[in-house]
Amino acid sequence: MKLVFATHNNNKFEEVKELMPQGITLLSLQMIGCNDEIAETGDTLEENAIIKANHIHRKYGLNCFADDTGLLVDALNGAPGVFSARYAGAHKNANDNMEKLLAELRDTPNRQARFETVIALNINGETAIFTGTVEGRIIEGKRGDQGFGYDPIFVPEGYDKTFAELPLEIKNKISHRGLAINQLLRFLETLTIR
Ligand code: IMP
Repeated sequence: MKLVFATHNNNKFEEVKELMPQGITLLSLQMIGCNDEIAETGDTLEENAIIKANHIHRKYGLNCFADDTGLLVDALNGAPGVFSARYAGAHKNANDNMEKLLAELRDTPNRQARFETVIALNINGETAIFTGTVEGRIIEGKRGDQGFGYDPIFVPEGYDKTFAELPLEIKNKISHRGLAINQLLRFLETLTIR
């Protein structure tokens, strides 16, 4: 079965491709000739993931999955959440997003936060949803130079290093995206052994 992973992020694509069960050929947006910047207009991570997966299924008639991730901070009532990628503004980068978050949390003792990933899978027009969450806390300054996004300021529960200081193998095992992808893989395995 051909399956599209609707992401423009090549690192994510290569990582997930390695994990696919036999019988599934994973295709990138580039491989199907899709350069669309699919607008993430939903109010939730789930809506955005569904919008992206459905767009590809409708336009290309291919089975597809898409992911959306957010960082939810308790002291900010769940912000930046669905707006995590553009927290500091549409044309700002990961460093600007972290600086804004650190400024918002200055003098705030409650640093509890979580990453959430939602994956929407569209198979023959039917939707299945998979989620992954990792609890942790936002520290007061950046530490580490691995990973991406908010990794330098997020310490997962049970660890004293940030995601940007932990080896990628550990991050992948415990992370929001790792957990959601494992669920997706288990589901795909049940389809391919039938
Ligand atoms: P996306 O849905 O993967 O594009 O991610 C949305 C936002 O969350 C972006 O600002 C990413 O940088 C951030 N983000 C997603 N996954 C991670 C992660 O594993 N670590 C840190 N930041 C992340």
